[in-house]
Amino acid sequence: MTEHLLKILIVGDGNVGKSSFVHRYVSGQFNKTYKMTVGVDFSVKLLHWSDKEKVRLQLWDIAGQERFISMTRIYYKGALGCVVMFDVTSSSSFSSCRHWKEDLDNKAMLPNGDSIPCILVANKCDLAHRAVSADTIDKFSKAHGFITWMETSVKDNKNVGEATRMLVQEILSV
Ligand code: GDP
Repeated sequence: MTEHLLKILIVGDGNVGKSSFVHRYVSGQFNKTYKMTVGVDFSVKLLHWSDKEKVRLQLWDIAGQERFISMTRIYYKGALGCVVMFDVTSSSSFSSCRHWKEDLDNKAMLPNGDSIPCILVANKCDLAHRAVSADTIDKFSKAHGFITWMETSVKDNKNVGEATRMLVQEILSV
């Protein structure tokens, strides 16, 4: 049995649903949350990925960031993948995704120097008043090198597991 330890980051503006996403994903499972003084938080979930592989996911959520801020390299160190999240009802949270992705491309590298795989997540798709169209998200996602994008609703538990699985699959295939 092989066990992979994967550090995954969840970034995005404040209030887009990052903490709710992590909580939804890990709840009901073995879950340990550490509150760290630097304002970063990680939770752990163990996945039985296949007959021969287990995946221990460390999900790192940045706490208390209302707007994009450039993160320190320490936060990015060792990360193998990232969820870049925005709120579909907030165009400013969507605009910030460009900065989040640029910061990742500059600082979060795989040992071979490549950028880490990132999935773009459009959360709160249960809400009717959307501020960003699917077409705009799709173009942005392709132009900025995301592996793909996905709509989620943490509230309705839509695509939370699927988005994470897609990212893990990409990480393990690299
Ligand atoms: P964070 O600051 O990015 O960690 O965001 P939070 O997880 O604290 O969520 C911010 C607010 O959005 C909270 O009131 C959540 O209950 C709400 N929220 C999170 N996900 C969803 C969702 O999918 N749909 C709706 N309608 N509200 C959500």
